[in-house]
Amino acid sequence: MEPFSLKEIRQQNLRRVYRLICGSHPISRSRIAAALGMSLPTVTQHLETLMESGLIRQDGFMASSIGRRAAAYVPCPSARAAVGAEILPHQLTIAAAGLDGEILGSVSCPLDFHPGDSYFESLAQAILGLLSRLSVPAEHVLGAGIGLQGLVSPDGQEVIYGRISNCTGMKADPLQKRLPFPCRFRHDAECAAALELWERPACTDAIYLSLSMHLGGAILLNGSIQEGRWGVFEHMTLEEDGPLCYCGKRGCLECYCSAEALTGGESLEGFFGALRGGDPDHAARWDRYLRRLAQAVNNLRMVMDTLVILGGHIAPYLLPEDLDRLFTLIQQRSAFPEPDNFLLTGVQKPCAIALGAAIPYLREFLAQPDL
Ligand SMILES: [Zn+2]
Repeated sequence: MEPFSLKEIRQQNLRRVYRLICGSHPISRSRIAAALGMSLPTVTQHLETLMESGLIRQDGFMASSIGRRAAAYVPCPSARAAVGAEILPHQLTIAAAGLDGEILGSVSCPLDFHPGDSYFESLAQAILGLLSRLSVPAEHVLGAGIGLQGLVSPDGQEVIYGRISNCTGMKADPLQKRLPFPCRFRHDAECAAALELWERPACTDAIYLSLSMHLGGAILLNGSIQEGRWGVFEHMTLEEDGPLCYCGKRGCLECYCSAEALTGGESLEGFFGALRGGDPDHAARWDRYLRRLAQAVNNLRMVMDTLVILGGHIAPYLLPEDLDRLFTLIQQRSAFPEPDNFLLTGVQKPCAIALGAAIPYLREFLAQPDL
């Protein structure tokens, strides 16, 4: 094996200092030296390099009751940004986020999707327009993640299953040609799960169910999302001769637990308004929905004894009593006594899919900063 050159060792140590400041700030020079086993002059050099590149800054002084107070260092979240988009059949949402995962700005507009050049032109213009409005230079952008309703190839350059939007085989190349930074497609359910993982760093394993107009799912294992054809829970068969699913088969979970199946075309706001107002028809539909969801969650729990996170567009409408009812229904089905704390509702954030499409770029940079 080739020995590391002095330059490589220096770069590695620089990244270690940067990661430490990102993970634990404000922090002083001596704390960095102690935590990383470096000499004070070495830390000083690294701090100067990081400040010159705009990745960190000095922000006042550490609190101390004795002696001279030490300078405090913090990361600059806006030193880099990532962009994410959510493509829906008639709507486009774009968000840009800094290194802390907070949204710097977003835009949402009606736009009819079709897998063609003119769509990619509009998408690229919308992304570049947002970055220009936010004064984020292209060289600071780590990449653009494009979240869509479909499964994508491991490199994110092709949609390998896009039946909902009729875009199987769509390539990222026409968009890449129009953007001066990397871009890739991402499955929208994986985007939602990426946001969960970002917001719940302590959660390393979970089953994520996105209860939206169409269902989606993802599996979180050892702190990372299993990409590709994992967690496609929507096409689990619940009934051999059930209703026809868009996948061409019958009785998939999608036919019972998508928001579309629940509301039958009514808005979610309208549905839950009527339900909470005591309408018996809506109450019966909701009960059928929860029974099917319990059936699915119980099956999933037999595969993975782990947390189950319920996200997607239905999640904001879930009340504690709904989770209690769901838990009771699951417990009635389960072969084993269930702990009462495995069901969680997903993180509620604006532009969640777009933000989740951007987050893997932030994670990659923070894990291995390109300094
Ligand atoms: Zn199906």
